[in-house]
Amino acid sequence: MIKKSEIKKKINLILELQRNGINDPKVLKVIEEIDRNLFVEEDFRQKSYENIALPIDCGQTISQPLIVALMTQYLDLNKNMRVLEIGTGSGYQTFILSKLTRFVYSIERYKSLSIKAQNLFKDLNVTNIFTRHADGGMGWKEQAPFDRIIVTACALDIPGKLLDQLSVNGKMIVPIGDQYNEQKLQKITKNNKNIEIQDLGSVRFVPLLEGKVSK
Ligand code: SAH
Repeated sequence: MIKKSEIKKKINLILELQRNGINDPKVLKVIEEIDRNLFVEEDFRQKSYENIALPIDCGQTISQPLIVALMTQYLDLNKNMRVLEIGTGSGYQTFILSKLTRFVYSIERYKSLSIKAQNLFKDLNVTNIFTRHADGGMGWKEQAPFDRIIVTACALDIPGKLLDQLSVNGKMIVPIGDQYNEQKLQKITKNNKNIEIQDLGSVRFVPLLEGKVSK
């Protein structure tokens, strides 16, 4: 249960999101309904409703609420979609997606983060999220194609395997760049013959790591 003192902080956060371009009522409603403090480490809970990224286990971060809201809004979801998420992390973005669409498939390379998120989804009685501990860059072939793909870590280039697993007319939201330079959030729309790339502005994400997964 959310404390009364936190309600004010949450309202301020929603107003901040609105001032920064979040105007989809469905996105605003889920952010208002979901308690971000469930996904934040105990030591940082007093900052749960601030518009900032916060540290989680394994040196990773729970994304800034504005970025979560923007990426969700850009995905343009409906209730019938199958969505692939790369980088489960705390599970906050995953849980938001699960409220707005049919099925969410989420991959995380740290086993402990994946298990922690899985347990949280179980406690929250979620039945439409499927998690996997693996290298997300490979996608989830058995469940492809996906109507939407969201990558919550920064890739050096558009991940080819993920593009292959995107449906025709599907959209992928992915930060592109490296750890040391400017990263750009991109929206990739896959057409019959080609892809369209739209630049959505500068962002800052932890890197999408390739290869061997971690415990
Ligand atoms: N959406 C998450 C963001 C977590 S940060 C949240 O708001 O909590 C990005 C996550 O991507 C990290 O947990 C990191 O471990 C994960 N990640 C990085 N490279 C990955 C890869 N190749 N496959 C799967 N997950 C990856």
